[in-house]
Amino acid sequence: MLKEALFYKKLENDVVQCQLCPHFCKISPNKSGICLIRKNLQGRLYLSAYGEISSIGMDPIEKKPLYHYYPGSYILSIGTNGCNLKCPFCQNWQISTEETSRDTITIDKIINLAKQHKSIGIAYTYNEPLIWYEFVIDTSKEAHKNKLKNILVTNGNINKEPLDRLIPHIDATNVDLKGFTDDFYKWVKGNLQSTLNFIETVFKNNIHVEITNLIIPQKNDDETTFREMCKWIGSLSKNIPLHLSRYFPNYRLDIPQTPADTLKNFYNIAKDHLNFVYVGNIFINGTNTTNCPNCNTLLIDRQGYSTKVLIIDSKCPKCGNHLNIQL
Ligand code: SF4
Repeated sequence: MLKEALFYKKLENDVVQCQLCPHFCKISPNKSGICLIRKNLQGRLYLSAYGEISSIGMDPIEKKPLYHYYPGSYILSIGTNGCNLKCPFCQNWQISTEETSRDTITIDKIINLAKQHKSIGIAYTYNEPLIWYEFVIDTSKEAHKNKLKNILVTNGNINKEPLDRLIPHIDATNVDLKGFTDDFYKWVKGNLQSTLNFIETVFKNNIHVEITNLIIPQKNDDETTFREMCKWIGSLSKNIPLHLSRYFPNYRLDIPQTPADTLKNFYNIAKDHLNFVYVGNIFINGTNTTNCPNCNTLLIDRQGYSTKVLIIDSKCPKCGNHLNIQL
C-alpha cells in the first residue's frame, strides 16, 4: 500500500528529495531510493510498503537482542523489505536487498495479535525499520493506546527531524553500531555520526537502549578503535549493555568467521569501560549471564533463550545495587 512520505522536498521536473536519512536520495519519477521501498510516483514520494510485511513472528526478547528489558518475555516482531545500508555481510539479505512477496496487514490486526499472544508489544525488526517510518509511527501510536511497548531494532541511520518526531513513540531499541570509523561506515554505505547521534538522542530521551557490535576480522577488529568505541558508550553510561556478536560469512562476504579468542579479548576490553557486556552467536562461558557490577552476584541466568531472573525490585538481592533492568 502507498502512503505519502512525511519528509521530502519537491525539486524540478517532478524529482523529489527524501529527507528521512543521511542519503538524501534525489529520486526521479517511477524510481526508488537506495532503501528500495520509498518511491517517486508522479512527483510525490511514497512509502510503498505501508501495511505490508515480509516477516512476522513471536520472538523471545533476548533474540532482538535486549537483555535488560522485560527479560524472559516474548515480543511480536514484524518487518518488511529494504534497507538504507548496503552491508556485504547482511544476515537478512533475502529481505533487505530486494522486494519479496509481502502480505498485507492492518494495524488493528497487529495490535490484536500482540494482545492475543500476550506480547509485551511490537518489535520493528528483521529489515531496517526506519525506512518503514510512516507505518512504524502509525502502528506505534495505536500500540501505546493499547498499553503495548514499541521496540526498534535498527542501524540508527536517520536525520534529526524525523528522529525527533519518532522518539515519543518508541520505548526501547537495540542499535547496531557496526564500527567506529568513517571508513567502515563508508564501506557499508552508512553514516557513523548519524548512528552516534541516534544512540545519544534515544539515551538522553530515556528510551531503553542496548547496542550490538558485529565483530568482523580485518574489518572492525582493531583493538584501539574498539576501545575508543567502548569509551564513547561508557561516556553516556557504563550501564548501557553491549552485545558483541560473532560474524559468520554471509551474502557477499566470505572472510572466515570471527575467532573465539578475538571475542574473548574484546569482551575483556569492553568490560574495562562498561558494566554489562555479552557475547552472542557463540557460547563462551560466563559471557551470557548478567552479574551485579558491584558484588558480582548472578542476576539473570540465560540458557539459550530461557532466562531465570534473580533480581528483586530492580535491585541486586545481595548488595541492593540499583540496576537499569526493566522487569
Ligand atoms: S530513507 Fe530511503 S529514500 Fe530516503 S534518503 Fe534514505 S535511502 Fe534514500
